[in-house]
Amino acid sequence: MTKAVFQDPIFQDENKAREALEAVRWPDGAVCPHCGNSDQEKLAKVEGVKQSHRPGLWYCNECKGQFTVTVGTVFERSKVPLTKWWMAAHMINSGKNGVSAHEIHRALGVTYKTAWFMMHRLREAMTDLAPTPMGGSGKSIQADETYIGNSSKRAKGYKKGHSHKNSVVALVDPSTGKARAFHVKRANAETVREILVTNAHRSSELHTDESRLYTKVGAEFAGHKTVNHGWNGRGEYVGKDGQTTNNAENFFGVFKRGMRGTYIFCSEQHLKRYLAEFSFRYSNRAGLGVTDGERTALTLKGIEGKRLTYRPTN
Ligand SMILES: [Zn+2]
Repeated sequence: MTKAVFQDPIFQDENKAREALEAVRWPDGAVCPHCGNSDQEKLAKVEGVKQSHRPGLWYCNECKGQFTVTVGTVFERSKVPLTKWWMAAHMINSGKNGVSAHEIHRALGVTYKTAWFMMHRLREAMTDLAPTPMGGSGKSIQADETYIGNSSKRAKGYKKGHSHKNSVVALVDPSTGKARAFHVKRANAETVREILVTNAHRSSELHTDESRLYTKVGAEFAGHKTVNHGWNGRGEYVGKDGQTTNNAENFFGVFKRGMRGTYIFCSEQHLKRYLAEFSFRYSNRAGLGVTDGERTALTLKGIEGKRLTYRPTN
């Protein structure tokens, strides 16, 4: 990552960074976070020359309250300038693999600890708090599971074998290209069913491998087709009716490469956040026509209402 990519004023000028955040968060004009007022006649920028005014301060004539664009977001109370938030959001969105807190620390000149907190806040921003069901009539949903574990023998808590690994279940709607992934302690018929019925329309056709995990829940969907993708030499990737789990496997491939290369020591506790990050990037990838800049702006748009859900753990 070179500094040259940070030539844009939003990475240099705090006022420009704030205005850009306002544009992303309030595409139709400012909204008072205290009372919800969005009547622009009753909202005013407090633009005095007085140094006592915080830059970017707004006044709501409805509730007589004051606010800035960061009130009620993960950035509230953060001492990190918005220019650096834009840089970090840009870096986390500039490749398939994400970016380590160490790279953020070096590129932004913030402490490692600050970089680490920033990354987790951005992952929080990438989390969809109100997901709607995927798929629908005439559409298919691919479901697949994989196991994630730290295979480094030097890692804390390393155990040999698969029992210590965490299960991850991914759903992909190939009609939109969007993915969602979930961390479960153990993938079994019950946990997989819970994920499927809360995240996918039952009018969809379910596509899975031949794992028995999906047999029962498959009957609850409009249809259930399986594909044998085992590595036993008989593996087929697309079934005779066109069913496949290739997209879900592709998501796992991106996730595992990223985790191996960028996030070496991911504890079980944070797996959910990394999955949110990879699902977000995958669902808003270049192949779907989303640019790096749009993905960065979408990330910062997601800061709203996340403040209370984030709790630092150390
Ligand atoms: Zn108000």
